[in-house]
Amino acid sequence: MSSSPNHASNASQNQIVNVALDVPLERLFDYLSGNLSLRIGQRVEVPFGNRKMVGIVMGFSQHSDYALDKLKTISRSFDDEPILDETTFRLMRFCADYYQYPFGQALLAILPARLRQLKPAPMLRIFAYRLSPEALKCAQLQQQIPARQVVQRKLLLALQEGEKTEAQLKQLSSVWQKALMALMAQGWVEKFEWQASAPTHFPLNAQTLNAEQQAAVTGVLAQLSQFQAFLLYGVTGSGKTEVYMQILQQVLQKPDSQALILVPEINLTPQLEARFRQRFPHIPLVTLHSHLSDGERLHHWHQAQTGRARIVIGTRLSVFTPMPKLAIIIVDEEHDASFKQQDSMRYHARDIALVRAQQANVPILLGSATPSLESWQNAETGKFKRMVLPQRAVENASLPSIYTLNTATLPLQNGLSQPLIQALKVRLERGEQSLLFINRRGYAPVLLCSACHWIAPCSRCSSRLVVHLKQGKLRCHHCGHEQSIVRQCPSCGNADLQATGQGTQRLEETLVKLFPQAKIARVDRDTISRKDALSDLLDKVHAQEIDILVGTQILAKGHDFPNLTLVGVLDTDSALFSPDFRASERLFAQLMQVAGRAGRADKAGEVLIQTSFPEHPLFTALVQQDYANYASKLMEERAIASFPPYTFMALIRAEATQYRDVDAFLQLAYAQVRAQAKQVTCYPPMRAQMERLKGMERGQIVLQSQQRGALQKLLSQLIAPLRESKLASRVRWHVDVDPMEF
Ligand code: ADP
Ligand code: ZN
Ligand code: ZN
Repeated sequence: MSSSPNHASNASQNQIVNVALDVPLERLFDYLSGNLSLRIGQRVEVPFGNRKMVGIVMGFSQHSDYALDKLKTISRSFDDEPILDETTFRLMRFCADYYQYPFGQALLAILPARLRQLKPAPMLRIFAYRLSPEALKCAQLQQQIPARQVVQRKLLLALQEGEKTEAQLKQLSSVWQKALMALMAQGWVEKFEWQASAPTHFPLNAQTLNAEQQAAVTGVLAQLSQFQAFLLYGVTGSGKTEVYMQILQQVLQKPDSQALILVPEINLTPQLEARFRQRFPHIPLVTLHSHLSDGERLHHWHQAQTGRARIVIGTRLSVFTPMPKLAIIIVDEEHDASFKQQDSMRYHARDIALVRAQQANVPILLGSATPSLESWQNAETGKFKRMVLPQRAVENASLPSIYTLNTATLPLQNGLSQPLIQALKVRLERGEQSLLFINRRGYAPVLLCSACHWIAPCSRCSSRLVVHLKQGKLRCHHCGHEQSIVRQCPSCGNADLQATGQGTQRLEETLVKLFPQAKIARVDRDTISRKDALSDLLDKVHAQEIDILVGTQILAKGHDFPNLTLVGVLDTDSALFSPDFRASERLFAQLMQVAGRAGRADKAGEVLIQTSFPEHPLFTALVQQDYANYASKLMEERAIASFPPYTFMALIRAEATQYRDVDAFLQLAYAQVRAQAKQVTCYPPMRAQMERLKGMERGQIVLQSQQRGALQKLLSQLIAPLRESKLASRVRWHVDVDPMEF
């Protein structure tokens, strides 16, 4: 090994190699190549301290800031081919800068787990299952299986949609394996080695588009070879997916072109996957999400990265999947909060998708029935082209009817009003299903006057005060202002002030008492924490084994229950007056979506919303199913309050076992911001909404600016000194750019 600089600089043998590593430092690391011949984007093993690490070759240089005899040599390279290229480097460079996150950590995090391990990763063989030729010929396949073999029938039904990998079958039931073996033994199913290109047996069956759909398709197709963002605003069931598919049909005619489709929820991928596979039987398609095994994930990722998979459907992390021939990006349900990553690098996949489309110079289509106000604003200013699908696409399918029930005047029986109880009863008699939707998660209680609807405001900012009953305090979670709980309404003198959002615990018990014969199931994060629990439950709903479903957000999305004709909504009022300025935007989207669960098939659906504020603009817009109207109201409020999308925000959060350490660190950050800030508003350190979590005291500062650039510049100057400060070593801290939670 050589240690002389001029020797190293001109020898192709022992070059200086710049390597990205998964370490929390904002730089690359120099190594010597030894006798390896390396290429940019290749995966290598390097010594780091007293251990070994996986790194990515980023480049080669003539000089190093470190003495050459101090440089260590790369131990080995893993794969024959590079796995990343400049396009991905550029995207991750943007992310690292924008989210103030170490580049090496950002880059390594996008690799499938197998590629982060210190061993070569053979691109694995994956097996899949399909119907045998006999099964395909059989006209009444289901009838060949005894009715009590529920799981076998279910697997067959799934395979009739198209081939399935093990991972997909696993989703269907916890006892899938036994059922599959039985089906194979009977000769109905066969196993084969899966290739992304394996064709299925189904013909094309594109719908004839209606005029609005046609306009949307034509609009996008007119701008295929350049960057342009489109907002497809269409009510539930208006045929957005059909629009995506017909656009892809054209895009994918170009040889080798690839399409990336992002979906918010893992639970939504199987449905979408099935539809795309049916429509494009000969086009290689892969999915990327966390229910895949490590081996499958690697295999799918590799298919995308080598350009073999032409359609990639995935959840938020897949926005980073290398795709050499990327021709279009589609983001379905673009408003959904699960596109935001809430730890490590706190990126927003929709925003990254936009940057990616711009860098790749390709169009991007964002679809939603209730677009985010950020996207709505971009459509208003003309940055995005807006396309509207105002009606349900299927003939005679109408939107559900939505009504409010005024709980200020109707007596409640443990949270249920008589009209709602009556409606539940009618459904039970008709053998139809009902869903009771409770909206409780993430909303902090505010102090509300039951007589005049006054809500305790913050005197220092346009935010609402949060009730902290234990301490007897009201606190602003935006600026930190604190005061005692008032006993009397300052507006009307009423002494009956209440903290909203309490007391739905007994709902399930009440239902059991009211309807002892009904089959009732509760769904929330606690009851479905087991992996298969949700899918098992959905099966029961489809099999009509459940009459009344009680649940939270989990039920709102995407699931189709044809026999469900009533949705009751309880306990949403706290969200109307939440201190989180996005709460009502989210509530509208959620209620719209949950309303979409009712009456999807031929049966008309009814939605009953219990509220003390039926005249609130959110409900008037909801009853009319007029998002555009409500969006413009919300935009006015945001403009007045200087909230996003009219301003840009960032948070610095910190936590430690002692709050004084948190405070000291945040005070330092605050002082630095005050010293440098131009065009950036910063509020003093304050405690987080959740003050203590897992034994840690938590605090934050809010930064806000009308200019994204000014905020970015400030953050980039702030981070390095904060990282180096002694105070930082006593806390865990991070930056959250464009935070979605406070
Ligand atoms: P969205 O994605 O907006 O919820 P989908 O694309 O799922 O809507 O369409 C809802 C239903 O309408 C589907 O059953 C679909 O097959 C049907 N559909 C879509 N477009 C048309 C059309 N032009 N004519 C008839 N039916 C359509
Ligand atoms: Zn009052
Ligand atoms: Zn305030």
